[in-house]
Amino acid sequence: ESPRRVAVLGATGSIGRNALSVIEASDGRLQAVALSGHRNFDRLVEQAIRLKPRWVVATDAAAAGRHDWSQLPAGTELLKGPKGLEKVAADAGVDVVLAAIVGSTGLASTLAAIGAKKTVALANKETLVMAGPLVRQALGAAACKGHDELLGGGVARLLPVDSEHSAIFQAMRCGGRDEVERVVLTASGGPFRTWSAESLTQVTVDEALAHPTWNMGPKITIDSATMMNKALEIIEAHWLFDLPADKIEVVIHPQSVVHSMVEYVDGSVMAQLGPPDMRLPIQHALEYPHRRSGPAERLDWTQTHRFEFEPADLDRFPALKLGFECAEAGGTSGAVLNAANESAVEAFLEGDLHFTEIVPACRSILESHTFDSDPTLERLVELDRWARQEVQTWACA
Ligand code: NDP
Ligand code: MG
Repeated sequence: ESPRRVAVLGATGSIGRNALSVIEASDGRLQAVALSGHRNFDRLVEQAIRLKPRWVVATDAAAAGRHDWSQLPAGTELLKGPKGLEKVAADAGVDVVLAAIVGSTGLASTLAAIGAKKTVALANKETLVMAGPLVRQALGAAACKGHDELLGGGVARLLPVDSEHSAIFQAMRCGGRDEVERVVLTASGGPFRTWSAESLTQVTVDEALAHPTWNMGPKITIDSATMMNKALEIIEAHWLFDLPADKIEVVIHPQSVVHSMVEYVDGSVMAQLGPPDMRLPIQHALEYPHRRSGPAERLDWTQTHRFEFEPADLDRFPALKLGFECAEAGGTSGAVLNAANESAVEAFLEGDLHFTEIVPACRSILESHTFDSDPTLERLVELDRWARQEVQTWACA
């Protein structure tokens, strides 16, 4: 069997590095043929020396122009600027595109991969939140449904990398699509799970960056602290699995071992478990439909484990309400929520916005936008820009 050729978009990030460790442990079944980095070029070159890809893409063209690339392996071609992502995502020499760039800047390359009928292993939830309606249209009947009929060649398909959605995808293979009563997304609750509403107003950047169970990039770590990450995941589940908002539930599970669940109409609940280690869901997407022994950590059943589940507190974590509302509204709402949040998180990290202002800023911008149920890509991109400007105004006020 010839190796699966993987383009790792966002190779220098947290998901990207975990993906490379999965690829390197795959005994040649997976091959990294393209790696991208935005600015961390020392790491990108070091990765290229190890994996000898056909391409490296340095997306920040200006910074790439100043960098010394003399250490790149002889057979590796350097592409500078974001257009390189779209080129490799659509190239005939690529089988699977791992979309692991952070934020809505990952959209163009994800759409290019879908347009070129690739298998997309999707970590970049923001592109689905922003452009869910368009991604679904582009996928057509081949959208991710959790069944093996997805396996025919020549069609684009989306395989979830996000651990919750990977869990749901796996648990959905236990019953028929119309036998699903609801999906239950688990959430760690983040670093402030037990904090009072009052103390949340005093949160510092360092406190918000210290996640209790997962080690991730800074943007998603802040999203986990506000629980906006779970809101984005509600919307992601809606588009991925074609589920209405009222069939999606969120439960707090501080240990992050039960990654999510599917409840069937007979009341049976199927869950997927594993230590909080992204290498397992990454491997599941890259190797699908096969299961192989890999580098992810395992649960040790000789030890005592205590798993807790508690209801989510929508008053202390109002981001969750936004998630349900946007999953229900669809259209332009996800794009506005996502862009407002990305920009508000940046403002928080720069000290221009309080932690407890992130979600109210998102709500007020969402409520003031002109909703459109069937937007074009141009409209979504325009709203993305508009929502970011609105956050700047809010942060300066
Ligand atoms: P990181 O911040 O660790 O990595 C982001 C990657 O994107 C890096 O390779 C970075 O390059 C690149 N990048 C940043 N800005 C741009 C840009 N403007 N254009 C092109 N590339 C850019 O993020 P994570 O790996 O944590 O997250 C990646 C995605 O996966 C996010 O969408 C996140 O929501 C999702 N995800 C992450 C999980 C995790 O465990 N980390 C879990 C579930 C989902 P460089 O570093 O070279 O500048
Ligand atoms: Mg997740």
